[in-house]
Amino acid sequence: METYLTHLLEDLHAITLARWRRCPPHFYQAGMRDDLHQPPEGFLEKPQPDALPGETEAAIGEIENWLHSKPAITMFDHFGLEAEQFPPAEKLTEAQAHPLVDALVRLWVAHNFLPTLPNKAPARIFYPMMLARMAEPAMLLEHGMNGIEFCDFDPEGCPFGEAWCDCKEYLSHDVPVRV
Ligand SMILES: [Zn+2]
Repeated sequence: METYLTHLLEDLHAITLARWRRCPPHFYQAGMRDDLHQPPEGFLEKPQPDALPGETEAAIGEIENWLHSKPAITMFDHFGLEAEQFPPAEKLTEAQAHPLVDALVRLWVAHNFLPTLPNKAPARIFYPMMLARMAEPAMLLEHGMNGIEFCDFDPEGCPFGEAWCDCKEYLSHDVPVRV
């Protein structure tokens, strides 16, 4: 399993890096650079112009496409990956699932899919949810971002399970919601 996971992580990194080189994520072009959104190892940063020519028009065109067509292909398709490449969570320890989740988040972010990450749920809980989401149709944007939420502020129906739901605190303490 360890050798397999090492190869899988290398594949995820290669796809992430190729995407960055072809089309750096929208947030990066827009100047947002926090820890989660750093370029992958191997990406040589070039100075970006303040606004890319045609960026606004392209962004509007993408939204038009989004509104007028149903996305048919899945995130797995966009990434060139197959669900079968990913071992089921039951076969993984938390220590094995953790780097996989990190690599998947970087892969998603490189493609402008920005997940709201759980604060409490372990990687072994979150990982299968990421796999399930990747099997659903999704629109790949080059000039905008897709925010992806998992918890919809209903602890009893929370997909993380009530014990791992972040929204209980938000609902009980008036803590501002991190988005
Ligand atoms: Zn929740």
